[in-house]
Amino acid sequence: MEERVGKKIFNGIAIGKIKFYAKAENKVVRTKVTHVEAELARYEKAKEAAVHQLNELYEKAVVEVGETNAEIFNVHAMMLEDDDYNESVQNIITTQEVNAEYAAAVTGDNFAEMFANMDDEYFKARSADIRDITERLITILCGGGAGSDIGQEPVIIVAEDLAPSETVQMDKSKLLAFVTRLGSANSHTAILARTMGIPALVGVDISKDWDGKIGVVDGYEGKFIVDPKMPLLESYFKKKAADDEQKELLQTLKNQENVTKSGQKINLYANIGDPGDLPAVLENDAGGIGLFRSEFLYLEAENYPTEEEQFQAYKKVVETMGGKKVIIRTLDIGADKQVDYFKLDKEENPALGYRAIRICLTRPEIFRTQLRALFRASGYGNLAIMYPMIISVDEVRRIKEISRSVKEELLAEGVKLGQVEEGIMIETPAAAMMSDELAKEVDFFSIGTNDLTQYTLAIDRQNAKLDTFYDAHHPAVLRLIQMVTDNAHKAGIWAGICGELGADMTLTETFLRMGLDELSVSPGCILPVRKVIRETE
Ligand code: PEP
Ligand code: MG
Repeated sequence: MEERVGKKIFNGIAIGKIKFYAKAENKVVRTKVTHVEAELARYEKAKEAAVHQLNELYEKAVVEVGETNAEIFNVHAMMLEDDDYNESVQNIITTQEVNAEYAAAVTGDNFAEMFANMDDEYFKARSADIRDITERLITILCGGGAGSDIGQEPVIIVAEDLAPSETVQMDKSKLLAFVTRLGSANSHTAILARTMGIPALVGVDISKDWDGKIGVVDGYEGKFIVDPKMPLLESYFKKKAADDEQKELLQTLKNQENVTKSGQKINLYANIGDPGDLPAVLENDAGGIGLFRSEFLYLEAENYPTEEEQFQAYKKVVETMGGKKVIIRTLDIGADKQVDYFKLDKEENPALGYRAIRICLTRPEIFRTQLRALFRASGYGNLAIMYPMIISVDEVRRIKEISRSVKEELLAEGVKLGQVEEGIMIETPAAAMMSDELAKEVDFFSIGTNDLTQYTLAIDRQNAKLDTFYDAHHPAVLRLIQMVTDNAHKAGIWAGICGELGADMTLTETFLRMGLDELSVSPGCILPVRKVIRETE
């Protein structure tokens, strides 16, 4: 039995089999083989396994992100059957009498380069797909796992680190908990764990040897126990049962109002990352969606999601919410949310760099595509749009100009649009300080306390070493929240919080006192926060 401590990301108890998640590093070494036939057969078997993985991923993705977004897995499976690609691998194995990993790596490099040098943008983009299928093959040949494919049985994922793009691709129904060595409590991977409502710890001194053993994640105490013995294991089964019972009890709060004893009401909405989170939103009785991080559609894809793909995703969300408000945030890529096909330069200070609205305003084709999809989806429900990382009135005016022209374009095409509220995130000190002016330009404010804390306190939210300094309760942050709320109300618009602080139940009473109109929290926090609101005077 081993016990480790870590930083708590989301509470709850998980008991189950540990899966060590290794990134496919795939250092391929060229080795001579004596049995060429056996090597060819080994390659054939790996290819079949890769196609099988991709078919399974496709099935899973159809349910979670819809057919259009899932299509990429079909395309990859087809590419693996490509004659030219396979002949090249087989030729290298046969003529050079070398291992399949090496033959696949050389073929992958050659084909990827060939595609990258093509003029046609579509074929250029296939270069990344070639690299992807080759990686998958090599991982299988090296005996490794299937990347984000975590297998069939529910597991506790133990990893060095997880990127948001990896987390988002994992099958949520198979995830019992996350335990990682790296990662900060405020990173997007941590936020995803909260959205999924699963226990998670970061900063744990992990070991590869734990793979396959039984583990217990205690998200309340920040403990990870490997191979627990009786009576400890039994006590955790009891704790888990009590935890489940508590969750059951919270269910009685469903369909109840978010109202204090003295009658003050507040909206309680949910934060989501992709349409796959919708069941949790409905199950937890959210009043709406206060933050749909649309960038996860981009993180899940291999290339820019098309207008149609985005439209389908947004439409699904607004239709599922059946008239309840759905606030979709436009693309917030950059900083820790990197996507290869954006080809963003490496930066010294990514959090202060080329991200979010800065990308949208300088690459209007990306922005307009997303806005077209959003406005088209607005005809199917109650959709609102919000813009991230705002720092000035001028930016907002430029955004409004683009949004106006997109709307006109769609109307001219005969598209039916809904009434769309347009708001901004207040997540920079500049926006908070200018909130009196900004309030005259928009329909609402949503305070992004994760970034607002980062920029106000000059503390990198990604830096795990600074977690103890990252104090979202700092009076400077709380004063800014009050100021933003007051300025919103003076201009007759509403203000909410969509950062993680919104779910901090030690502050619920403070937020009510400040007069906030809405709190948007991860789906699993809706009922606990409702309970606190209803117990407040
Ligand atoms: C925030 O900054 O508080 C926020 C909600 O946005 P994100 O965490 O996605 O940066
Ligand atoms: Mg933010």
